Amino acid sequence: MSELQEKESRSGEPGLIQAIHVGEILCVGTELLLGQIINTNAAWLARQLTLLGISSYYQTVVGDNPDRVRLAMETAASRSDLIVVTGGLGPTADDLTMAIAAQVAGQPLVEHRESRAAIADYFHRLGRLAITENNWKQALLPQNAQVMPNHNGTAPGAILEFTYQGKPKVMILLPGPPSEMNLMFQESAAPYLEMRTATRFRHHFVRLIGIGESAAETLFLDLIDGQNNPTLAPYASEGEVMFRVTQLIHDESEPDNTAGLLAEIQKRAGDYIYEIGPRNMPALVKDLLLEQNKTISFAESCTAGLVAATFGEISGVSAVFKGSIVAYANEVKVNQLQVPADLLAEFGAVSEETAVAMAKGCRDVMKTDLAVSITGIAGPDGGTADKPVGLVYLAVASERGVEVRRMQIPGNRARIRKVSTLNAFDLARRELLR
Ligand code: ATP
Repeated sequence: MSELQEKESRSGEPGLIQAIHVGEILCVGTELLLGQIINTNAAWLARQLTLLGISSYYQTVVGDNPDRVRLAMETAASRSDLIVVTGGLGPTADDLTMAIAAQVAGQPLVEHRESRAAIADYFHRLGRLAITENNWKQALLPQNAQVMPNHNGTAPGAILEFTYQGKPKVMILLPGPPSEMNLMFQESAAPYLEMRTATRFRHHFVRLIGIGESAAETLFLDLIDGQNNPTLAPYASEGEVMFRVTQLIHDESEPDNTAGLLAEIQKRAGDYIYEIGPRNMPALVKDLLLEQNKTISFAESCTAGLVAATFGEISGVSAVFKGSIVAYANEVKVNQLQVPADLLAEFGAVSEETAVAMAKGCRDVMKTDLAVSITGIAGPDGGTADKPVGLVYLAVASERGVEVRRMQIPGNRARIRKVSTLNAFDLARRELLR
């Protein structure tokens, strides 16, 4: 019996420490409704709830309007055990979330001394001495709130336990800025929720490349339909195919029973699988380069720096990544990458020959062990019958020579550039595994 179940069965009051099964996310902010910012908080929180084993059936966005925020909170409380709210905890007059949450939870707002001190301390560290009355407003919190400190800003968060329509509910209030929200959730909300959930999921991600989503699903159809625990499900990911193997557990000490299913997946999809685990393609390439003590550079035409930007997101990449040359115009291909002008004139910028010359030239100029080039037609204009939109050549140069990949990538400009980027890393990966 888990710690939580034990507590539940000991307590005659199911209301107080009942397990949380169903949660929902409520994001407050008129900017979200107007499409001025993308609701990344909802996506991030949804993943966190899933990892905690909490099912979520609704996500709501509401503007900074008190009546509608209140209605959204009440609606959520009427159907879910847990409501996770972000945004509207700031110091200005339209930041009303905490006050309305206090009303819904039936608790008065009172000043929280430590939060007031933390706000003073935060401004002191910033060197700002004049704190306005508005800032102190952020220290007013519902009376019985469990306060969550904000280590990246001023607005404290709160966990409220209350009864709504005779049932126990939990509302977790987090600030809107993602850096504040993420840290507070990880430091304070997740440990609280771990105590309040009776089940958890154990996930393994299987990442494939070189196979389409429906072809991959066909390979695993009987496993997707027939499995109970663990389950196998496709997982949305642009440009590559990912499957998630999920085991439902009640306690962290339960053994991992996913090995059999993972082995079967490996048997069927073998060569397409590049990773079973947390690493994405660029992270894997970085690790391989590090292990082999090698460096890489890129010559980018149609991706125009996207490969470099993607690689730059991986921490520690500077040990293996020397740089990228964005060679959009032919003269840059000639002057910076030493692509022979007559070769360009003969075969065109989007050709196997140019991709090879770009990779070789890049390797020489950048003095790296590997160099990968990408040249293609991202569209929507510029395609011809011979060279349609989505035609992309990639090449990897190493001490062994040059390998080329020709691709015809379906989709719009953004997708063509994204898939090209992924394949640039895949080409490097295959070279490193040879
Ligand atoms: P602050 O202390 O900054 O006023 P707050 O809790 O009041 O925080 P908001 O004023 O609602 O938060 O939003 C502040 C900023 O946080 C927004 O301008 C936006 O950049 C970001 N933000 C808010 N909500 C979201 C969201 N759901 N997804 C992504 N970013 C968000």
